[in-house]
Amino acid sequence: MSFASLGLKEPILRGVRAAGYETPTEIQSNAIPKILGGAELIGLGQTGSGKTAAFGLPMLNKLCGGPPGLRGVIIVPTRELCVQVAENLRVYAQFAGLHVCTAFGGVDMSIQESAFKRGLDIVVACPGRLIDHLERRNISFEHVQMVVLDEAARMLVMGFMPQIRRVFLRLPQERQNLLFSATMPKEVEGLVNDFLPNAERVQIGSRSQSASTIAHRFVAVNAHDKQEALERLLQRESGRVLVFVNKKIGCEKLGNALKRAGLPADSIHGDKSAEARYACLQAFSRGKTRFLIATAVAARGIDVDDIELVVNFDFPLALEDYIHRSGRTGRAGKSGRALSLVAPMEKRLFAVVQGHLQGREVASVPSAGRGYGMPKRREGGGGGGRGKRRDGRSRGRTASAH
Ligand code: AMP
Repeated sequence: MSFASLGLKEPILRGVRAAGYETPTEIQSNAIPKILGGAELIGLGQTGSGKTAAFGLPMLNKLCGGPPGLRGVIIVPTRELCVQVAENLRVYAQFAGLHVCTAFGGVDMSIQESAFKRGLDIVVACPGRLIDHLERRNISFEHVQMVVLDEAARMLVMGFMPQIRRVFLRLPQERQNLLFSATMPKEVEGLVNDFLPNAERVQIGSRSQSASTIAHRFVAVNAHDKQEALERLLQRESGRVLVFVNKKIGCEKLGNALKRAGLPADSIHGDKSAEARYACLQAFSRGKTRFLIATAVAARGIDVDDIELVVNFDFPLALEDYIHRSGRTGRAGKSGRALSLVAPMEKRLFAVVQGHLQGREVASVPSAGRGYGMPKRREGGGGGGRGKRRDGRSRGRTASAH
């Protein structure tokens, strides 16, 4: 199947070519004709499937050639995702004469307001800042034709549901709604019932497909040995690695410790300023920092295709989070690796994840209690890193946690 056969207009097809896409991904070939036909859609699944173009291209197609003014609204949970989605859309929109603006907190409102004045057809926004602009009458929803709610379950976790409802209540009745979510907790179902009752549901990048391109490994290690295990592991890696932690405070500390150990690492989390987070993402996507320590929320906006390895330094707190995190590698059909450091107190969730993966025939999942150990030290290279090493602990010993 080709993009041309999906029914997109020529200026949009030129944008697709400029993005370097040759054939549509599964979600794109599935969703684009439906959205072009006017259907409301609920896309269930994680990112990495080409979701942005799946909703972005039909939105641009619908607005292309129409009168200028705000007609498309895309609501996302984080500033990083805001920037990434807008960047992608601008590439697709460059021959369609459509203006894509962003609205997120942490930067001066007047900067965004001036951008709106230069031209605004689509706004990609975080909920709080969108409402601020609306209340100051910097934008008007009067002519909005299409709304996308991206990462709805994340929005719920981040406490944005009341703002989302406020936005929806202020939108014109006549509009097309699209909603994407990794999971459908009951609050999201409630939102769907209230605002998209007749929407069609499509599974995007189903779990089994996504998992089949990723090799999953688990290493049993005592909690206090994790940092050392990670350092050793990263010293053997030559590509980009995304390391997940569960808390902001641990994130910063771990990033600093790795930097002190001479590794090209940095950390990204919600307590950093918008500018610092942006700089951090840029450095990671350009390969200046290869190891990025992130909280799950901050990692949402990282749009880098060639992440070779995802490490769960802290084991995620739910199966869906495991799937979401590991989905950051093996994107767009490439193969990837996920490695989790499992402390004794994380065994319960590990068993849940293991059950899920074994059911889906994913390679190299060791069974609990067997074949486990700290990652082995690289032959002759363990102490050869540039930075200082922590002393006083034996290296290469097998963790006896389980
Ligand atoms: P997304 O799920 O929208 O975050 O997309 C994941 C990655 O796949 C992004 O880097 C996109 O630029 C890329 N991508 C999306 N659609 C295609 C396509 N049809 N062909 C090749 N790459 C794509």
